Amino acid sequence: MKIWLDGKLVEESEAKISVFDHGILYGDGVFEGIRFYNRRVFRLEEHIKRLFESARAIALKLPWSEEEVCQYTIDTVKANGLDDGYVRLVVTRGAGGLGLSPYLCETPSMFIIASTIKLYPQEHYDNGLSLITCATRRPAPGALMPQVKSLNYLNNVMAKIEAIQAGAVEGVMLNEQGYVAECTGDNIFLIKDGRLITPQVSDGALDGITRRVILELADQLGVPYEERSMTRYDIYTSDECFLTGTAAEVIPVKSLDQREIGDGKPGEVTLRFISAFRELAGSTGASID
Ligand code: PMP
Repeated sequence: MKIWLDGKLVEESEAKISVFDHGILYGDGVFEGIRFYNRRVFRLEEHIKRLFESARAIALKLPWSEEEVCQYTIDTVKANGLDDGYVRLVVTRGAGGLGLSPYLCETPSMFIIASTIKLYPQEHYDNGLSLITCATRRPAPGALMPQVKSLNYLNNVMAKIEAIQAGAVEGVMLNEQGYVAECTGDNIFLIKDGRLITPQVSDGALDGITRRVILELADQLGVPYEERSMTRYDIYTSDECFLTGTAAEVIPVKSLDQREIGDGKPGEVTLRFISAFRELAGSTGASID
């Protein structure tokens, strides 16, 4: 496997970063996950723009332009000879001394991995996922801005542990006020009386690229939507529920806290979104050829 690291495509065994990198020492950095389908990178510019915005928000200045990073992403996919897969871009503050100050780090580091991914078994796409509510809360926006896709995922990791230990597949994370924010690695949507509803970003949701695609598709499919605060009550009493994420794509939910959602099967509106998403993802994106 070839890895792009700080300007060069190197073998995986040579792709190494310093133990003094603040990305490792303090989780000081940002990242992106992007899919490519049929040799086209889906929503490439949008992902790279979000990467740059995450970096700006944490005062991390990248020495490359957005166009250059798009090209490096394409180069990495090409170098690995893959037609379909997942790209992970990680930007760290770079190597510095032992001390929190980012000003100890001279140059940021970036690496790009192009690989394959299978997040959930097919069975969950066919029958729906089971969710639990996690006790671990999403950090308040005043603690960690929800739009920043940072290397600080410990909250999400703790919540994921809870979900797995409870025998569920994913977990719903609430914010400090008890409103639904999102899941540990996915955004959440529900359908109630024909309307699509998803939490606002200000309730602690990542401004997911797949979430944005679903809102665009809602317009095209003529499904009215609202971004608003919701509690678990809204999910328990919804007709349908699904999650979205780059890795997971669009995946139906069958239950939350062992309460069946709708009739416990992937709903009709959810299935329309899944097929519209697949069609779009399979036919658009930046060509790697
Ligand atoms: N929320 C969280 C916490 C995530 O990590 C992700 C990405 N895995 C998402 C939502 C979905 O975002 P996107 O559609 O941009 O992948």
